[in-house]
Amino acid sequence: MGVELNSGSSRKLYIRTFGCQMNEYDSLRVRRLLAARGYVVVDDIGRADVVFLNTCSVRGKAEQKVYSFLGSLRRFKESKPNLKIITGGCVAQQLGEKLLDRFDHLDMVIGTRAVNSVGQLLQQALESGGRLACLPEEEKPDSQSGGPGEAEINQSPGAVTAPVTIMQGCDNYCSYCIVPYVRGPERSRPAAQILEEVRALEACGVSEVLLLGQNVNSYGKGLEQSITFDELLKRIEAQTGIARIRFTTSHPRDLTDELMLCFARMDSLCKHLHLPVQAGSDRVLARMNRGYTVAGYVEKIRRLRTICPEIGLSSDVIVGFPGETVEDFKKTMELLDEVRFDNLFSFCYSDRPNTRAAAFADKVEKGEAARRLLELQALQADISAGKNLAEVGSIREVLVEGPSRASNGQMTGRTTHNRIVNFQAPLSSKGQIVGVKIACAYSHSLKGDIVAK
Ligand code: SF4
Repeated sequence: MGVELNSGSSRKLYIRTFGCQMNEYDSLRVRRLLAARGYVVVDDIGRADVVFLNTCSVRGKAEQKVYSFLGSLRRFKESKPNLKIITGGCVAQQLGEKLLDRFDHLDMVIGTRAVNSVGQLLQQALESGGRLACLPEEEKPDSQSGGPGEAEINQSPGAVTAPVTIMQGCDNYCSYCIVPYVRGPERSRPAAQILEEVRALEACGVSEVLLLGQNVNSYGKGLEQSITFDELLKRIEAQTGIARIRFTTSHPRDLTDELMLCFARMDSLCKHLHLPVQAGSDRVLARMNRGYTVAGYVEKIRRLRTICPEIGLSSDVIVGFPGETVEDFKKTMELLDEVRFDNLFSFCYSDRPNTRAAAFADKVEKGEAARRLLELQALQADISAGKNLAEVGSIREVLVEGPSRASNGQMTGRTTHNRIVNFQAPLSSKGQIVGVKIACAYSHSLKGDIVAK
């Protein structure tokens, strides 16, 4: 959520984002587009004239959260009949009018390719008083524009880091994933547009950009001027002054040697890679349609660590995929032991509508999948704790993001390896890169003291 942009009698907009960073970025676009029509963003939903829910359906749990939140708005709408409730994002794209049927207090459903029209659609709904669903096949051409003026507003005020979408959609069709159905095929933004947006963000005081896409390392497909992802990174470093570059998410199959070399050769590229492996069994990976083997994945990690020994690594794992045997699960545990990721995001498999895996018959019993997940998370907690402990005594460069939520009076930031560090520092240090000597390690963060340069 953002803060109020100005005061007065402007109409108030409350935005809630569910799910991934791509959705966060879309929420920023909604905020920008409606700000241009005089809406101010509020943190208190009770003051809102318009509620925008940016929904996620990548996992069953996230989708259930959306339904539960939407249901909880019924009373609020009864007490404030002029309130407009809008859903965007993947659930909106997937269900369309069915969502209007299910929630009769919902006013608008906006598909993933209609975000750019949110202002006109809201105006239409206000004038007609009717309910509508808009799910276009194509995005409006200006929906991915990123001129300097846009970038200026397309971020939280005073943000040190800012997302920049470089591509959308996915062509991979992993058998469990709904993204290609709700986000469509891969579309890359022209490099010139991305560079312009990064420069504009830099001019607004942003120190770090997070390049976003469902599969960023296949960036460039279909563009008139041929370019690969590693070339885009190099251009950003050469043609802008941005201090730090991060990116997510990558597909293991598209991790090239050229990209690995960027971690060793580019000063501005943070030394962290999120590379989802999903499973440690070739049989399961094949059924997931991931397009690589465990040995191939491990070999890429080995090469990457040879090229850039200090690289920080994180990954995703799905536990209890249909047909996953105890033996398959054991292989995933062995993979974690072998690769020793710094951080891991792990989930139980859930059926997603229209995906191939939803039709697989051999589902793993839910209790068994939950048990496996706990076992896997316990192993990873040990690995992450050991990795964090090894940081104690080291001096790390930390980009100061702002006051820490956890500890009073402390500031928080991240190392190049994506580790969260809390430390005492003045508010004025926000946006600077400071040296911090790590004093204590916790399960998800570090604590330290600023050291002189
Ligand atoms: S690579 Fe696979 S998991 Fe990732 S968005 Fe594409 S289809 Fe989904």
